[in-house]
Amino acid sequence: MVLTDPQAGNLVAIALGSNLGDSRTILMAAIDQLSQDPKIKLQATSHWYQTAAVGPPQPDYLNGCVSVLTTYSPKVLLEKLLAIEVQFGRVRQERWGPRTLDLDVLLFGQSVIQTPTLTVPHPYLHERAFVLAPLAEICPGWIHPVLKQTIAELTKAVDYTGVHRLAN
Ligand code: AMP
Repeated sequence: MVLTDPQAGNLVAIALGSNLGDSRTILMAAIDQLSQDPKIKLQATSHWYQTAAVGPPQPDYLNGCVSVLTTYSPKVLLEKLLAIEVQFGRVRQERWGPRTLDLDVLLFGQSVIQTPTLTVPHPYLHERAFVLAPLAEICPGWIHPVLKQTIAELTKAVDYTGVHRLAN
């Protein structure tokens, strides 16, 4: 798997989640919006997963992952993702509370980034079954640049209770 190419840019894995409103339509529209950006090329899309929410009582989430090739820097890509969240009416309420759209950068090539606004690889990636299950579908061989294990290897250590793959 080529993670960084001088012309095409970096391969990036992005997690999508929603548990407010018409989640499937919102998630599909978010992917569509990403794909329309001339500097973002969609590579792969996982199935959707229905997952029990962590935190205060709230509806189940719909989660999935995409991989994209982009020439954007991590910082600019994050700004694009936050703008799409806002566009879909995300209202930040309580921490861990329900949300119309959540977009997270999971992996950015083999980069390790630690700034006040961005931590990559995403700090919870390896702990969350609802992230690892869709991620393993689209990039099982990607090596986590900090843990030095493939995504497929990381999936063996998590509990999949409450995480259900849906027919697309
Ligand atoms: P949350 O809504 O809980 O996902 O938090 C969103 C905030 O987390 C954003 O405003 C980012 O500045 C910050 N953040 C840090 N690392 C990441 C990442 N890998 N992907 C997305 N947001 C991140």
